[in-house]
Amino acid sequence: MKHVIALDVGGTGMKAALLAQDGSVLFEARRPTGREHGTDAVVAAILDFAADLADEGRTRFGCDPLAAGVAVPGTIDEKNGIAVFSANLGWRDLPLRKLLGERLGGLPVALGHDVRTGGLAEGRIGAGRGVDRFLFIALGTGIAGAIGIGGRIEAGAHGYGGEIGHVVVRPGGPLCGCGARGCLETLASASAVSRAWAGASDDPDADAAACAAAVEAGDERAEAIWRDAVEALADGIVLAQSLLDPSTVIIGGGLAEAGETLFAPLRAAVSERLTFQMPPELVPATLRDTAASLGAGLLAWDLLSTEVTA
Ligand SMILES: [Zn+2]
Repeated sequence: MKHVIALDVGGTGMKAALLAQDGSVLFEARRPTGREHGTDAVVAAILDFAADLADEGRTRFGCDPLAAGVAVPGTIDEKNGIAVFSANLGWRDLPLRKLLGERLGGLPVALGHDVRTGGLAEGRIGAGRGVDRFLFIALGTGIAGAIGIGGRIEAGAHGYGGEIGHVVVRPGGPLCGCGARGCLETLASASAVSRAWAGASDDPDADAAACAAAVEAGDERAEAIWRDAVEALADGIVLAQSLLDPSTVIIGGGLAEAGETLFAPLRAAVSERLTFQMPPELVPATLRDTAASLGAGLLAWDLLSTEVTA
């Protein structure tokens, strides 16, 4: 069975799979990233995991993997295969594609950004299956995004394409980690909602899920916090709609777990704001925490089809 290695390196854990050409998962595994042991140990753990996955494929299918795809967080130079920077994992200018290629005996390796590879998988085999133009938005600790065009993700000229979390929707608003004020992620990320609800409910452990539950129970303070987040998100989506005109907006991450408690008011808020733009379909992501790993596998397959046609 022809297969590729797919690996998603997260802040604390790695998720891996062996993937068939149609995107189906032939084997899955998880391991800790081991960042408490330092950056060199993390890199060694990534290389070891990839080599073990190659062995696993040989044992199971009697043939070598055809390629490997790896998704990592932070800033990525996809073209040159460099993991430029990750605050979480501590590396700078790490030539990860080269290191993996060497460890895997010259196998072709694709390096991708975790959110963009996750978006790729959601667009191609997840919530957006069959959709040509989509926007993927992950509402987690921050807000990240990916622009899908023609079955691929647009990374931008410098690798920052799709950063909808740093669109300013409330000028002069809360200070963002990026240095600007009023960025979307300061208002509508799962963390922002958790923070606001922890303050309003006087419970430091209250999170976004608790806020959603309080909204469903009719708590007015929770409703006000939720409305602010939904309105900020709608402003960001309408801006993206005006620029990119996607047919579908796929929303994932912690806040999307609230389901219709989020999607129903969000659809209404977006449609209220549209004037001439066609409304996008707003749908929840379906691949959850396997999206980036699956997307890394798709990148590996794409690498092979590019090599064949080149
Ligand atoms: Zn920002």
